[in-house]
Amino acid sequence: MARRTERDIAAKWRTQTRAVRGGTNRSDFGEQSEAIFMTSGFRYDTAETAERRFTGAEQGFTYSRLGNPTVAMFEERMALLEGAPIARATASGMAAVAASLLCRVKAGDRVVAGQALFGSCRYILDEVMPRFGVSVTLIDGTDLDAWEKALAPGAEVVFLETPANPTLEVVDLRAVSTLAHAAGALVIVDNVFATPILQRPREFGADVVVYSATKHIDGQGRCLGGCILSDEDYYERYLNQYLRHTGPALSPFNAWVLLKGLETIDLRVRRHCDNALTVADFLANHPRIAAVRYPGRADHPQHALAMAQMDGAGGSVVTFELDGGRARAFEVMNALGMIDISNNLGDSKTMITHPASTTHQRLPAAERERLGIGEGLIRLSVGLEDVHDIIEDLGHALG
Ligand SMILES: *Cc1c(COP(=O)(O)O)cnc(C)c1O
Repeated sequence: MARRTERDIAAKWRTQTRAVRGGTNRSDFGEQSEAIFMTSGFRYDTAETAERRFTGAEQGFTYSRLGNPTVAMFEERMALLEGAPIARATASGMAAVAASLLCRVKAGDRVVAGQALFGSCRYILDEVMPRFGVSVTLIDGTDLDAWEKALAPGAEVVFLETPANPTLEVVDLRAVSTLAHAAGALVIVDNVFATPILQRPREFGADVVVYSATKHIDGQGRCLGGCILSDEDYYERYLNQYLRHTGPALSPFNAWVLLKGLETIDLRVRRHCDNALTVADFLANHPRIAAVRYPGRADHPQHALAMAQMDGAGGSVVTFELDGGRARAFEVMNALGMIDISNNLGDSKTMITHPASTTHQRLPAAERERLGIGEGLIRLSVGLEDVHDIIEDLGHALG
């Protein structure tokens, strides 16, 4: 925030330049690569300086729970990529989701959310919020009438994920933001699947964007991280003090890994999308696959909306349905030679997951069926290998 003029210069750069150079803040040594400041605290030349830092009369770092130079570089680069005034990093994606919601609500408030969400996001809405007297209404995020009905009594927060994990449902960001604002609600979007390269929800009216940086932002399976992006009003009124005193701070080392990830995110995400579309087309034409879902394919129920919101691309995740339930799903996964059985996504290595038995096993079977997370559903995070090798491995495993 101290670097307004540098922000103004970087804001004129195009996306790929922001991803490579945004937020770089060199020390007196003039290092070319961003420095890692592995320090918990900072020293002051005089007691008066310490006092001024604490009152805010003087800019500068005091303690890495509150701010750190390497973490600040990552935050500034994220703010530039998202086009948001404020970015604050967290230790994981779930720390970002939890903080963005919990800092804003109090007993008696209402939250309306799309029901198709990452499993741990559902836990916060289903289990944590109600314990503190916050009522949560879950609806089909693709149904605008359902949003309108649920928001009619008023609400404080709307929470949604688009495309959603693992159903790849797409929510209309502009329409839902308009309905939410009319009801007095703040709109928080979990934008993990789309990444800031494909979709910037604030351009469609959303207020707060959260990321698991563990996914495409690192993109190489090395560390956890998260980020919350917002305007100054939400930050000053709710988020800032909450983060300072609850402490979900990102490690400076992980911030450095994520900074390096951002330098290639544009290239990687575009190749992920190309590979994912090729794999989705292959699977859709395979006789032993019952159904394929990919926002980049014309047969996706919200294909046109996805293309309009996601810069014309479908993302890195493809899901498909096998006849024969869990037994057949496990048989195919176990027959793979290259693709890894793993629950991460957005990694350079292609990974396969069975959501019903892993990421979404906490939900009762009936609820999973209702969401479209059947026993035969498989989620594929398409990586950056040569797409022919990915297809050959899948073709062989499908037999
Ligand atoms: C992975 C993920 C999260 C949680 O992120 P972590 O970094 O694992 O804590 C939240 N939302 C979505 C959509 C995710 O895919």
